[in-house]
Amino acid sequence: MHRLLKRQLKKLGLDAERVPDQEQWQRFLSLVDEAYAQSDQDRYTLERSLSISSEEMQALYQRLKSSSEARMSAIAKAFPDMIFFQDEEGRYLDVLTSRPEELYVPPEKIIGRTMEDIFDEPLLGLFRKLLADALNSGRLQQIEYQMPNGKGELRMYEARMVPMEFRDEGKRSLLTVVRDVTDIRREETRGHLVAKAVSAAREGIVILDEKKHIVSANPAVESICQVAVTEILGKGLSVLCGAETQLLEDAAWRILDTQGRWHGEVQICRVDGTPVSLWLNVDRVNPESDMPPHYVILLNDITELHASRQELERLATHDYLTGLPNRILFQDRLEQALARTQRSTCSGALFFMDLDRFKIINDSLGHQVGDRLLQAVANRLSAHIRPADTLARMGGDEFTLIVEDLRRPEDIVQLLEKLQEAFRRPFRVGQHELRTTASIGVSIFPRDGRTTDELIKNADTAMYAAKESGRDQYRFFTERLTLSAYSYFDTEQGLHKALAGDEFYLVYQPQYELSSGQLVGVEALLRWHRPGQGLISPSTFIPMAEMAGLIAPLGAWVREAVCKQIVAWQEAGVLPPKVAINLSSRELVKPGLNASVASLLARYRVSAELIEFEITESVIIERGDVAYQNLFGLTEMGIELAIDDFGTGHSSLVNLKRFPLASLKIDRSFVRDLLVDENDEAIVRATIVLARSFGMKTVAEGVENHQQLAFLREAGCDRVQGFVCGKPMSAAGIARLLEKAAAAGSGE
Ligand code: C2E
Ligand code: MG
Ligand code: MG
Repeated sequence: MHRLLKRQLKKLGLDAERVPDQEQWQRFLSLVDEAYAQSDQDRYTLERSLSISSEEMQALYQRLKSSSEARMSAIAKAFPDMIFFQDEEGRYLDVLTSRPEELYVPPEKIIGRTMEDIFDEPLLGLFRKLLADALNSGRLQQIEYQMPNGKGELRMYEARMVPMEFRDEGKRSLLTVVRDVTDIRREETRGHLVAKAVSAAREGIVILDEKKHIVSANPAVESICQVAVTEILGKGLSVLCGAETQLLEDAAWRILDTQGRWHGEVQICRVDGTPVSLWLNVDRVNPESDMPPHYVILLNDITELHASRQELERLATHDYLTGLPNRILFQDRLEQALARTQRSTCSGALFFMDLDRFKIINDSLGHQVGDRLLQAVANRLSAHIRPADTLARMGGDEFTLIVEDLRRPEDIVQLLEKLQEAFRRPFRVGQHELRTTASIGVSIFPRDGRTTDELIKNADTAMYAAKESGRDQYRFFTERLTLSAYSYFDTEQGLHKALAGDEFYLVYQPQYELSSGQLVGVEALLRWHRPGQGLISPSTFIPMAEMAGLIAPLGAWVREAVCKQIVAWQEAGVLPPKVAINLSSRELVKPGLNASVASLLARYRVSAELIEFEITESVIIERGDVAYQNLFGLTEMGIELAIDDFGTGHSSLVNLKRFPLASLKIDRSFVRDLLVDENDEAIVRATIVLARSFGMKTVAEGVENHQQLAFLREAGCDRVQGFVCGKPMSAAGIARLLEKAAAAGSGE
């Protein structure tokens, strides 16, 4: 390089040996450029100032230019954009592009041509205006337009045109950067469409971040969950539902985190408390590969669908006329009930009811009246059953009833009685007062059938037997049950009469102390002498009296009879023994028992020490409940309490400790097998030790022989009661025993 030039370059801060940076080139280029552009005079001045010849200047310019071009084309190649240089008349000076094949016209056909040579209207007009605007404003101008690329595909372009300081042959020049924005615009359009669709969707769409906080929710969420979107952003999903509900259970999250998606139905309460059924689709998504997972939840309100599905289900399984379960549902329930009883020790019963005389009513008064009668019957029967029972209409005038959890046949008889009772009052249908009864057949399961068909058939057979025997009757499939049911019924009726009449009396069984052999008390036992039938066992009639609600008057009768007897003994000059009275657990739970006992004792002036109550261990006494208050009141009065039939119920030690019990009566069943069954011996011994540790006396019941007596004495039992010492006897018998004992005592 020319020495002088080097010097001049240095003056300008340029180092000709090294490749100058962009800015330095720019400065120099524009200097040279300016010189060329202005006038010959200027160029000359520059040549002079740089002390170089015209040729050298020319060469330098070319070199700089080509070096700059190389740089420019390198830049252009690095970018996807196309760069056009034009002069102010629209003539193309240069084109830079890394993909010339994309150009509408090949580069060599562009350079040196004007826009008119290349384009037609309307593009030509568009570009012309762009150029004019850029030149006039001196600022960057931008347009977007469509035109085919080199392959003939219609593409979308964005052009930015800016006038440059650089002049070409004295003309102003412009730079245009053109970018293919087809894909971007498509993506944007798609984005807009998606956003529009999301906000117009009837499905609720909620997006959660990795911390499961809501980052976005569409307007549908507002209407489904009745919340404002602005108020839920940044919060957990629970803001969408009421306090007690949770939109997604932990189990669902676990599935999501392992499998990436979950769907299912959830029932929630909205924040305002209304219930709503939702169908959820939840997906775990990774928005970008380096971003933590997000969750997209689609919520569909299926409350109505749910309701209509339920309604459909109801229609399919219920009788349109009465609203009761129909044959299909009945069959299903019977199957389930049968399966349950096969697993447990309880029985169930199937009642098959057919209305008597229904056909006559239907034929004479018309179907409408018949229908309304069936509805009335359904309503009345429904009122007599428990919620767990299934009353169904099989069709016509046939109804069925499934009852589970039966422990005793008596329960069925009571229910039968109730069902028959339901037909006693006439049914009012419009202006008619209609009377109808039902013939009822009963099969007990699992005994009367192992399949539903068998059970239905047997109940049906029993129903026909009931019809044949004169309507308004019931029959069990097993004949024996029908008989015992009738006798139960009969006994119950008899009890009512017995209380009013004079059929009850008391007997007394003596209790002896083992150590002294003395008579220390008696147990009052109730007897019923039924006219024409003889003596009936208390084990038969006491449970019936309990069920028939007669135990309270019966118990009161016993207590009063005992008091009268004590007074009678006293008046006869006999020192009365302590009398143990059995107390039913049903009496114990009635408030005011203790008060009525107190007033009874006061009325007869009987000392509380002469009375003992025997309660069964099945009464679980909880502090604060009625039984507790009653027992507490009784012990306060000085009345002693004994646990009867110990070992047959489910007594817990806690229960025993809770109350001041004076004695514990070992049940007859354990005493019976003493010396036969080692287990029973161990139980009796343990019971005696246990009672003693609680400060209670033991009384062995049902002692029938001397071996038992000897064992009990050796084991440390306090008292005995049983046939070996004395059977239950009349009050006079007890008086004789007492007198004999007194005489023996005084004789000693
Ligand atoms: P319980 O209270 O356990 O009465 C004892 C029962 O055992 C009595 O039967 C008695 O006759 C019988 N017994 C006594 N010694 C022997 C014996 O050595 N061998 C045998 N095999 N049995 C013996 P009973 O009188 O038939 O009374 C049965 C149950 O009826 C009583 O059992 C009691 O739970 C209940 N009961 C009796 N009277 C009344 C009453 O006035 N009120 C209440 N609520 N229940 C009563
Ligand atoms: Mg007893
Ligand atoms: Mg007993």
